[in-house]
Amino acid sequence: MPYLLRAEADRTCPVIDRGEGVFLYDTTGKDYLDGSSGAVVANIGHGVPEIAAAAQEQIARIAYTYRAQFRNEQVERLAEKIINRARDKAAAFFLSSGSEATEAALRLVIQYWRERGRPSKRYVLSRQVSYHGNTLGALSISSDMRRSSMEEFLFTEPAVAPCYCYRCPYGAHPDSCGLECAEHLEEIILRLGPENVAAFVVEPLVGATGGAIPPHKHYFAQVSEICHRHDVLLVVDEVITGFGRTGKWFAMHHWGIASDITILGKGLNCGYTPLSGILLSDHVLSAIRSGSSAVSIGHTHSGNPASAAICCEVIDHIERNNLVERAARNGLVLDWHLGQLADTHDIIGDRRGLGLLWGIEFVRDRKTREPFPSEQDITRRIVELALENGLILYPCRGLLRTGQGDAVLVAPPLTISPTEIT
Ligand code: PLP
Repeated sequence: MPYLLRAEADRTCPVIDRGEGVFLYDTTGKDYLDGSSGAVVANIGHGVPEIAAAAQEQIARIAYTYRAQFRNEQVERLAEKIINRARDKAAAFFLSSGSEATEAALRLVIQYWRERGRPSKRYVLSRQVSYHGNTLGALSISSDMRRSSMEEFLFTEPAVAPCYCYRCPYGAHPDSCGLECAEHLEEIILRLGPENVAAFVVEPLVGATGGAIPPHKHYFAQVSEICHRHDVLLVVDEVITGFGRTGKWFAMHHWGIASDITILGKGLNCGYTPLSGILLSDHVLSAIRSGSSAVSIGHTHSGNPASAAICCEVIDHIERNNLVERAARNGLVLDWHLGQLADTHDIIGDRRGLGLLWGIEFVRDRKTREPFPSEQDITRRIVELALENGLILYPCRGLLRTGQGDAVLVAPPLTISPTEIT
């Protein structure tokens, strides 16, 4: 296939013919257990007939209308479904990818402070070891390796210390630490001047770049308090963690913390259509409504009826099949099995996660936590070997500033059964 520009031109990937439940089947008939739901997307599994039926019905009736010309019932229904489950938000807006949703959140943050008459609040802070997307704004606040070729075009870089207990930047232990990583956020806010800081963007668990790094249990309470005290918007990126993946509808529900803006993607569409979104809290919405009332975010396909109808059915499917509770329950089974693996494989330095979002970090020396040299390309080798053996895993890159660090995500569809986990 010489005409398609491929990311890694020299790799020959299998061609997938169809999917059913947690399995994919390639054109040679080989089956694969989708242990990572693709890029942590296919949360309800593959080939769900109700989604195909909802798509067919909507597309046959009306697939596309433009939001500046017509209202659309499907997208309004979708917004209502999500707002009801988020519990602490007032409005939703839809886009097509997680990166677009991050860009929209960044623009709303700047707009919010302008509407409030504080235009000097412009700095957007984010953490080292993070990923928020691959467009220029989203990449600017990400520490992903994809930055390297675009560095001169990016508007900032992630400065805040990660909450990465296995490799604590302060050498602390979770039981006795003083949450220096959260204090570092405050130090930076004070250094820049709170009057200049607009927002802090953060993932509840660091997914693609970190290998499912969960926060310290008191981290978000402290971060939220710091943001609140300095009038800094807390923007939470739930692109990977949202819609049941961690055993709650939204990961922030684990800690009872409300964001000002939430970014959504992946699990909202489960791979059946590219649709992402942002959720706004009441005061962000009010600032816009009582200010200019202008909404300048959005693109040609934002919230189109076909995608919205599909996502409504995705959410209904999650609810009907109790997939959020199932993720919480089966996450314990997965944890147990990963524990068995760790007991017998010294290469596993850490396993961590929540619900059905787990990461395994590989090390050369378990005692010292020394990473493998980058040249050994351990993550790629493990992912390829797993694929040969019919298991799909997601590689994580850029864990350490040195470029080293090897991890994979284990994040099967939430429909997986305990037997399939074994
Ligand atoms: N935010 C997070 C936390 C992600 O994991 C990703 C993608 O992996 C994105 C944003 C970007 O989403 P997309 O690839 O759909 O643009």
